[in-house]
Amino acid sequence: MSIESCVIYEKKPLLSVNEAQERISAALTPLTQSELIPLKHAFGRTLAQTIYAPNNLPFARNSAMDGYAFSSQEMSTNSPFTLTQIGVVFAGSPFNGQLNKGECVRIFTGGIVPDNADSVIMQEQVNTQDSSIHFPSDIQFGKNIRQIGEDVCVGDPLCLAHKTLSAIDLGFLASAGIENVNVIRKLNIAYFSTGDELIGLGEKLTIGKIYDSNRYSLHGLLQNPNYEVFDGGVIADNRDLLKQTLQQAAEKFDVVITTGGASVGDADYVKDVLTECGSVNFWKIAMKPGKPLAFGRIGHCYFFGLPGNPVAVTTTFDIILKPALRYLTSTYSKKPLLFSACCTTPLNKSRGRQEFQRGILTQRPDGVLEVATSGHQGSHVLSSASAANCYIILDEDVTHVASGDCVNVLLF
Ligand code: AMP
Ligand code: MG
Repeated sequence: MSIESCVIYEKKPLLSVNEAQERISAALTPLTQSELIPLKHAFGRTLAQTIYAPNNLPFARNSAMDGYAFSSQEMSTNSPFTLTQIGVVFAGSPFNGQLNKGECVRIFTGGIVPDNADSVIMQEQVNTQDSSIHFPSDIQFGKNIRQIGEDVCVGDPLCLAHKTLSAIDLGFLASAGIENVNVIRKLNIAYFSTGDELIGLGEKLTIGKIYDSNRYSLHGLLQNPNYEVFDGGVIADNRDLLKQTLQQAAEKFDVVITTGGASVGDADYVKDVLTECGSVNFWKIAMKPGKPLAFGRIGHCYFFGLPGNPVAVTTTFDIILKPALRYLTSTYSKKPLLFSACCTTPLNKSRGRQEFQRGILTQRPDGVLEVATSGHQGSHVLSSASAANCYIILDEDVTHVASGDCVNVLLF
């Protein structure tokens, strides 16, 4: 979007949260560059290509039980029978002999089932007397054998491109013998706080100063194996310094995030600087907390200027930034699950912005989901955000929720 059309845009109503999300997706180009890495380093990374099975799984027929394997041909389960044990099959050491009529082998879980055997009976069901194995009637033939390819057939897709590799996926791919995987390269992200009032941990708190908490929240929020994250520290409320810092960062990083200075105060330079050295796509959303949120570009770098208030930072991150970063890393992502819950505390809001109030979601013994406000909803109030486990999402037009009304909640 050009700067001119943005200026016109500002005279229009605020962007809804949905519109903002759509405009961001439309403006982003997901990463395509990939790197080949060892499977062990791939937890949480996004697959660049679909991985296909190089072999059948199981690769060979093997036993699902500790028991006895034999051929049931010409046999009946109507009466007990006795077979002679002629060998033992451990997992990893197959039986090389020939299994004939009237014979069985002792077999352990994972042991290769001899070619002409079709049944494994668990050891708890038999009686043994030296090499004579007595089977009761009413046992089931043809069971307890893991067949070739019953898990995966050679050539089957194992994990699809754009999947985020879970712990199960790592085990799954290892079971298929996949040693290295092609993943999307990491997204390089830098984040900064802005504000003359900010001091660092270890410094003495004095009147007019506050500890910089936003960089700690962002540090936690950006923990993701797909991100390479740089903490750029604090930028003072100085227009030239902000411009110079953002321009330099934009040359090195895919994404730059700032907090603070995005509003309309006299020391809020973020939007002006973004206009000067890049382009503003939008800078206000009908969202609470989180109205001032500047999104745009500086060169090839995407820029997100988040609000300064600490709860606005975490909320805009969860609702706006997180999906955008996932989209950028080509990560397949489903719409987050919303739950309907019975609200046990009355809630108020003013019309016009979609609110993400912080709540505590619990489940009654009868299974019904209940949610209560977590307390003071100021966007500077971290205590109630810290006590919460979900957002209570209230649409733009809602002004009041009575105790007992149903609301939509989004788990943190
Ligand atoms: P601003 O958007 O810069 O006007 O900031 C809005 C509010 O958020 C002010 O009360 C700031 O002091 C506060 N704030 C801004 N940055 C931070 C930060 N990094 N940590 C904690 N509070 C902040
Ligand atoms: Mg500020």
